[in-house]
Amino acid sequence: MRVFDHDKEYVGFATLPNQVHRKSVKKGFDFTLMVAGESGLGKSTLVNSLFLTDLYKDRNLLNAEERITQTVEITKHTVDIEEKGVKLKLTIVDTPGFGDAVNNTECWKSVADYIDQQFEQYFRDESGLNRKNIQDNRVHCCLYFISPFGHGLRPLDVEFMKALHEKVNIVPVLAKADTLTPAEVKKKKIKIREEIEQYGIKIYQFPDCDSDEDEDFKQQDQELKDSIPFAVIGSNTVVEAKGKRVRGRLYPWGIVEVENPAHCDFVKLRNMLVRSHMQDLKDVTRETHYENYRAHCIQSMTRMVVKERNRNKLTRESGTDFPIPMVPGATDTETEKLIREKDEEVRHSPTALLQKQPLETY
Ligand code: GDP
Repeated sequence: MRVFDHDKEYVGFATLPNQVHRKSVKKGFDFTLMVAGESGLGKSTLVNSLFLTDLYKDRNLLNAEERITQTVEITKHTVDIEEKGVKLKLTIVDTPGFGDAVNNTECWKSVADYIDQQFEQYFRDESGLNRKNIQDNRVHCCLYFISPFGHGLRPLDVEFMKALHEKVNIVPVLAKADTLTPAEVKKKKIKIREEIEQYGIKIYQFPDCDSDEDEDFKQQDQELKDSIPFAVIGSNTVVEAKGKRVRGRLYPWGIVEVENPAHCDFVKLRNMLVRSHMQDLKDVTRETHYENYRAHCIQSMTRMVVKERNRNKLTRESGTDFPIPMVPGATDTETEKLIREKDEEVRHSPTALLQKQPLETY
């Protein structure tokens, strides 16, 4: 019988997942969630219920007059949450004023610009000389609140989602589901899903689950997909239901419990965002939405350089033969400053450059 020498049989890369795990836990995680939809639909209440925090402590509520003239203003709240030693830096981007003005034409524009600005900042940082500690503010998911009082989607909902679906992962939610009967919720969900399809809106697609997953998991996954748009209820108050204290809304005829799956999809939405799909939402942001932005940016930069070179050719026969990617908006002085900073860094740490050399050069 052959005796295996374990040290020889195993190189040891089976510990790689553990190494990755340890490193990521040490570094911590971050996630940016945007909430959009007209005011009063329960966005802040839901966010507070989702993360069990009061993210809107110092919120300034506008009066009717201010709302009528208001343009969309973007606000950002960040909290550090820790659970079992795992740290999550959660950023909520709120879009108050969306759909509030009398004329809402193109009111989604400032939201789209905000998302682009975060991509642009990341692109600049990534293309810069110093890529250490890049702050990633890209928006990973946008919860879009649909009113429970309309007949399906309103034109503004369609406009908003179509304007943003190539930039961010849109997850539609049916707000204040406690104002509807279960039959109405079901009917509205079907109508909204049909309209999403009909208008060609590309909402976030849950990845298909692997064929070797167990049946329970497959069923849960299918239920999640069938729940779109998630019917949600938010509440910041704790009420007593059957001897237990729960987050809920108290009515003369009874209590609606936020975390009761028979009452709404709140738990499904929270599990999806936090437990099962947070990483996928980040991956799709990086691999699809940001990649689209980046490709677009590089294309227009290359076009600019070619145009510039052609112009130079007309005046004098000179110039480089390859396009030099310059970050849009970065001025010459800014670039010079970065180069100076990098020089300084290398001067103070002579080994820094050597470490970056490939081994063959030694
Ligand atoms: P936002 O302007 O979209 O952030 O909305 P708020 O979270 O400030 O909520 C507006 C009002 O709706 C408040 O009075 C909330 O108590 C109430 N509200 C929030 N969520 C719900 C809900 O799920 N159902 C019901 N019936 N009312 C809600």
